[in-house]
Amino acid sequence: MLYIDRLRTCGSYIPHCDSVHVVDVRIQEATITVWVESTRAQVPCPVCSVPTGSVHCTYRRTVQDLPSGSYVVNLVVTVRCFQCRNDSCPRKFFSEQIPNLTARYQRRTPRADQRVVELAIEYTDQGCERLGPLLGLR
Ligand SMILES: [Zn+2]
Repeated sequence: MLYIDRLRTCGSYIPHCDSVHVVDVRIQEATITVWVESTRAQVPCPVCSVPTGSVHCTYRRTVQDLPSGSYVVNLVVTVRCFQCRNDSCPRKFFSEQIPNLTARYQRRTPRADQRVVELAIEYTDQGCERLGPLLGLR
């Protein structure tokens, strides 16, 4: 429990991403679930690049990160949907992508995705299917 308490307070579980803080950490069976939220006050619109802090809504999204030992690690990210305030921009609303943590339509963090690609390059499809779960990746 001390380990989990340290994760909650220092937020150091995600050293590759300095724009989030850890809200909660729970371990259940062979899965570590980490709830995170973005700390950025403003986010640039992906179309016009004008920064905005106008949050329209939020939702939760789960992405798989690299395993920690024999544990599968899932990040539950509170994603903010912003409203672009630039009147000439065709994009009115957009979801925040957190650098090094989320990418559009991806269910893994970029580093977990990179690991899967490395496995796929190294092994055949059938070997990767068997090896992935052993390494905590689906
Ligand atoms: Zn815009």
